[in-house]
Amino acid sequence: MTSSTPVPPHRPVALHPTTVAVHAGRPATEPDAPLNPPVVFAATYVGVEPSGQGERGYGRYGNPTWSALEEAVGALEGGTALAYGSGMAAAHAALELVPAGGVLVLPTHCYLGVAASAEERAARDGLQLRRVDIANTDEVLAAADGADLVWLESPTNPMMEVADLPALCGALRGRVTTVVDSTFATPLRQQPLELGADLVLHSGTKFISGHSDALLGLLVGRDGTLMSRLEGVRKLHGAAPGTMEAYLVLRGLRTLPLRLNAAEANAQVLAERLAAHPAVNRVRYPGLADDPGHAVAARTMSGPGSLLSIELADGPTAIAFVAALELWVFATSLGGVESMLERRRRWAGELATVPEGLVRLSVGIEHVEDLWADLAQALDAAAGPSDGAGSVDD
Ligand SMILES: *Cc1c(COP(=O)(O)O)cnc(C)c1O
Repeated sequence: MTSSTPVPPHRPVALHPTTVAVHAGRPATEPDAPLNPPVVFAATYVGVEPSGQGERGYGRYGNPTWSALEEAVGALEGGTALAYGSGMAAAHAALELVPAGGVLVLPTHCYLGVAASAEERAARDGLQLRRVDIANTDEVLAAADGADLVWLESPTNPMMEVADLPALCGALRGRVTTVVDSTFATPLRQQPLELGADLVLHSGTKFISGHSDALLGLLVGRDGTLMSRLEGVRKLHGAAPGTMEAYLVLRGLRTLPLRLNAAEANAQVLAERLAAHPAVNRVRYPGLADDPGHAVAARTMSGPGSLLSIELADGPTAIAFVAALELWVFATSLGGVESMLERRRRWAGELATVPEGLVRLSVGIEHVEDLWADLAQALDAAAGPSDGAGSVDD
């Protein structure tokens, strides 16, 4: 055995996802090798004559730290991953697959940035947009007829609708390119590629990073030609991720299974208590037995996740509720260790089908009783003095 022969890199294949999240994307196990991939800051790479270039060539084309993250996320989703500068950069690259004049099927409710990007392309390049209710499998399949790309998001932002991904991806496989924005589910709660989807999108900014400190996007697929096209978009549009961000997101990924389990357990408790609270008209959470998405989620996801939406009486009540919170952070992101929430209609672009009083909650990993106490006091404050059941002290 020669000491110069490197041990092949770790590439866990049949391990449990929790283990893959911890081990995938690490450097080769050689004496004195670091456990973690180094953060490689490089705008360019040394070329090799006579070919003139090594494999990477230039900083916008590839980076060892991106590769480590891509290897790990690819291993979890069961495909080849590409990292982008943000979830929207990844979404943009996927939307570029629709030719000018093509047909794009898009959920009625989905991430607003994706909808805005699709609408902009539709206006510029004459795309036909077909908006569908992703919980209605027949409607999606009918709209997919003659389409160039079917964009699915499940569960949806912020209405928490759930798509029957096995039925949809199975029926559409080989007929039309399907993209699943799986940001809310993470690579741990559903596996769209396994079901026949062509591409999975993650905003790595959210759960995979998990600490609200990095922007990054990921696309994962199995078709080499498709992935080369998407890599080409990344190169030419300059949608490269930051090296430090790639490192942070990979570091976050290591604890994703633990964080998600904790946050999901909290979300289930809070959803049940919120559903029983008189100030809450409705809770949208697939973990609740009476939620419209419950049966499909129970069959197709390994857990309902940690996002939920609540509907309060009206906009002013929701505003008062958010203002009265002391622990929950009022912010527009999700998937971090810290519990966050926002009234969605505060955004001008939010659809009128989203109720004025809807508040989206991203449940974090704090102690559930602290989270509940804050929600309960803010709900009481927003509801104002209740029907004579004791007055509130100033
Ligand atoms: C945040 C988000 C995106 C966009 O990701 P960025 O990293 O913010 O660009 C896309 N889809 C969903 C579901 C998201 O939550």
